[in-house]
Amino acid sequence: MTVAAVIVAGGSGLRAGGERPKQYQLIGGRPVIWWTCRAFLDHPAIDHVQPVIGEGHEAMFAEAVKGLALPLPVIGGATRQESCRIGIEAVERLKPEKVLVHDAARPFVSDALIADVVAWLDRFPAVVPGMPVAETLKFAPGGMVGRTIDRASIWAAQTPQGFAYGPILAAYRKAEHERTEGLTDDASVAEHAGIAISIIPGQIDNRKLTTAEDVEIADREMMARQLQTLPDIRVGQGIDIHPFEAGDAVTLCGIAIPHSQRLKGHSDADVAMHALTDAILGTIGEGDIGTHFPPSEPQWKGAPSRIFLARAVELLEAKRGIIANADITILAEAPKIAPHVAAMKAFLAPLLHIDPSRIAIKATTMEKLGAIGRREGIMAHATVTVRLP
Ligand code: MG
Repeated sequence: MTVAAVIVAGGSGLRAGGERPKQYQLIGGRPVIWWTCRAFLDHPAIDHVQPVIGEGHEAMFAEAVKGLALPLPVIGGATRQESCRIGIEAVERLKPEKVLVHDAARPFVSDALIADVVAWLDRFPAVVPGMPVAETLKFAPGGMVGRTIDRASIWAAQTPQGFAYGPILAAYRKAEHERTEGLTDDASVAEHAGIAISIIPGQIDNRKLTTAEDVEIADREMMARQLQTLPDIRVGQGIDIHPFEAGDAVTLCGIAIPHSQRLKGHSDADVAMHALTDAILGTIGEGDIGTHFPPSEPQWKGAPSRIFLARAVELLEAKRGIIANADITILAEAPKIAPHVAAMKAFLAPLLHIDPSRIAIKATTMEKLGAIGRREGIMAHATVTVRLP
């Protein structure tokens, strides 16, 4: 029995504000769509996850789901209905018996709800999770109440909506053939085709992120959830030093700062990022930068240090860990660090998958004492806290 899941992320989602569609905005350090896709990828009842994305979102999507074992996305259509049909057609070659269609903007979907929908499909050709409506419903055309609607049988439909594959594919093709438009969810398409649909209890927090406020609340909630499930707290420390040589800029935390000298090293000599990388490796007992990227290997000559940092984060995440905070101190007489701190945090945050507010970058001089005080080089210390299952 093959069960496919189609994740619909076609919308431009601009109601939530911000520079990017809401499914690509960050919550708990990751794009909304990353959480949604992972929920299905990790689920034992789901065999295949097919994302449907908006035209022109290819690069944004690839960046957002980096590290997840997803197939290439398909490009959706002008309406949700069309995007769903394209997604459902995209999994036809797998000959699935069941297909679930889920909104990318519902990242809190629980394992239990996915399992319920899959299980109920043994009894019905279509299954929709829904929440009973608590508010009194008024029918009010033109802003004047006409009547009160009996809410006893009213449900607010959620996703994932599940279907026997053959019938829903046929229903979508029928709707397309007949040019029936404006069906806002998959169950409406099934209804239109006369398929019997069962409604089962949904999940109260499986809400669709729509507004900027939704995204903000989801951000806090996702972080809190992660911390709850990751009780193993570890601290790692890293220290690095590089001497100066002739040059015109130093790279610190990924940012090139004009200076009368540069730092000498095999890579880009980003001493702060090296300390940070070692601190992360320290939390999981995975050696140090030199273990993973030996200076004897010519391929790392001049390499940007974000490669090293990304590898350390990858090793941590392979253990299902997350970074809780990073605290970096740069010891240097010059150049001045403070004007670049915001840019440094903005550079590091997406690599660490945390909010910039969880990163500290401080600088101190050595009051002209010792090698650093004599301006012979720059040193950095980093402390990182991680959380593991
Ligand atoms: Mg180094």
